[in-house]
Amino acid sequence: MDAVVTVAVQLANALTPGEAHGRPYFPPGGADLAAAATAALRAGRRDTREITADEAESLLAVAASVRAVFDAVAAGRTDDAAALVNQMLADTGARPRLDRHDGEPWHLHFHSAEDTLVTGWAAGCATGLAVVLGSDLGGRLGVCTAPRCDRVYVDTSRNATRRFCSTACQNRVKAAAFRAAHQADALTAEPAHTAHPAQPAHQAQPKKSSASA
Ligand SMILES: [Zn+2]
Repeated sequence: MDAVVTVAVQLANALTPGEAHGRPYFPPGGADLAAAATAALRAGRRDTREITADEAESLLAVAASVRAVFDAVAAGRTDDAAALVNQMLADTGARPRLDRHDGEPWHLHFHSAEDTLVTGWAAGCATGLAVVLGSDLGGRLGVCTAPRCDRVYVDTSRNATRRFCSTACQNRVKAAAFRAAHQADALTAEPAHTAHPAQPAHQAQPKKSSASA
């Protein structure tokens, strides 16, 4: 189940436009899109073959559906999220099925053996999101709360305290908070400084303003 949820996150982050870590984000085009899609699937299953350009195009729609689910949960629209996941389950014909092939032990697939690779992963993503949403971990589908970032994540922290897609965004917000606190310190320090009777700073003020005018 981890693998399909991981792939859902990777697909949404690699293949949907928006903002990432403070910058506008667009999915890559052409051969780069196929490479990005392949990398997203391999995050869940290392031996996934290279994705074709057509498959990558189809995965754009899967990624958009996955993102809509994360957006709904993050906005508190859980009913919408559930409806979206149910639609994905229906569209992909998702169903559990034990399979054994290529010398592997029996393992669980979420689609039939005849499904295409894209439908198979779409069914897997739908099932993974359904299991998370239908559990007490339902609120753990998140959208990054850092400024200018809308990449998604699944909060696997013990106390469900995660708010950012990555340490990059966490550090960005920390640095901004530090700068803001530093500026606030400087601002509150200034009046105390100029109000001191021994300081001629207030006398210089009219000169300063006329000079700047
Ligand atoms: Zn982020």
